[in-house]
Amino acid sequence: MIENNGTDVTGSQNLLGLEYEDISRVIAQLPGIKSYSARQLYSWIYSKHAQSFDVMTNMPLPLRKALSIGYRISKPLLERVSTSTDETRKYLFRLEDGELIESVWIPEESRNTMCLSTQVGCRMGCIFCATAQLGFKRNLTSGEIVGQSLHILDEIGYRDRRVNVVFMGMGEGLDNYEQLMRAFRLLADPSGLAISPRRITLSTVGLVPGIERLALEPRAPKLAVSLNSPFDDERSRIMPVNKKYSIAQLLKAVSGFMATRHDGEKIRFNERVTFEYALLKGVNDTPAHAHELIRLLRNVPAKLNLLAFNPTPTLPYERPDDQWIESFKEILLGADVPVSFRKSRGRDIEAACGQLAAQQSNK
Ligand code: SF4
Repeated sequence: MIENNGTDVTGSQNLLGLEYEDISRVIAQLPGIKSYSARQLYSWIYSKHAQSFDVMTNMPLPLRKALSIGYRISKPLLERVSTSTDETRKYLFRLEDGELIESVWIPEESRNTMCLSTQVGCRMGCIFCATAQLGFKRNLTSGEIVGQSLHILDEIGYRDRRVNVVFMGMGEGLDNYEQLMRAFRLLADPSGLAISPRRITLSTVGLVPGIERLALEPRAPKLAVSLNSPFDDERSRIMPVNKKYSIAQLLKAVSGFMATRHDGEKIRFNERVTFEYALLKGVNDTPAHAHELIRLLRNVPAKLNLLAFNPTPTLPYERPDDQWIESFKEILLGADVPVSFRKSRGRDIEAACGQLAAQQSNK
């Protein structure tokens, strides 16, 4: 069965988000098809980013006419784009049902990264997150997830496949497992967007069943876990998901995922899972936290990515001062856990997840 990826007022079906097998089934019912028509259509959508059947001039005219009657290729509409002084670009997209989502383009000297949303709002309730304040509205379809990346790449005119993708925008990707994985396969397919799966990372708050399921996939994105506290009681306060899945359960699932990590036929033993740690002033930034992090991650193939909290007007948290952050880092650098420090990007354009959509919704 072909999963409906969105039908608009004209009754046409959106092809964006369908995988090759689905596209083959759509096209098999139409006039004027050739054996290679499905491959051509798939390539026009994901490799050439086509939005209209008119441009598909290597396909028979009767087929293009039939497609334009019953189908469409539609991406989220760009509502607003803001560029930071550090060149970070924040996109606000409007979906066909009027809901708003955000994506971010983060250019760096050595790499460029797209940060994509997977849900409208989020039900995980992390207390330091602007998206959590929106509540949960709905899951995104694979077309809406992939559509964000097509839009960004087209808008920037960027065609280099050496681009990083992080599912770290609005929403918890593992809470929308089917559509997330469909989007991942389209992004990673060499005949699709052709982005190396090694460059695609899923960030999760730690939905243990989702991580276990991911471990069974023949191909999966890399994993980043938003940790934010090494203490169960505190983590449960700031990230309610911890009440259901404790830190010990989370680390066990992560170790299981790493033990079965595949990339096609090749198992990669040297890969590490990233643990994200946002420093909140006076909450999770003491030397005791740093020492406990070292103890916790000693036996996990992990690297720790520290970042200072990006303040949001609607949340009562602050970033620690630079000297305090340095002292925290110093403790960790003395241990075996590899540590990196991620600078906050786009602070002048409300690039923290959910800020723009929340502002716009309030209006
Ligand atoms: S941090 Fe991520 S998982 Fe937590 S509420 Fe925000 S969007 Fe959801």
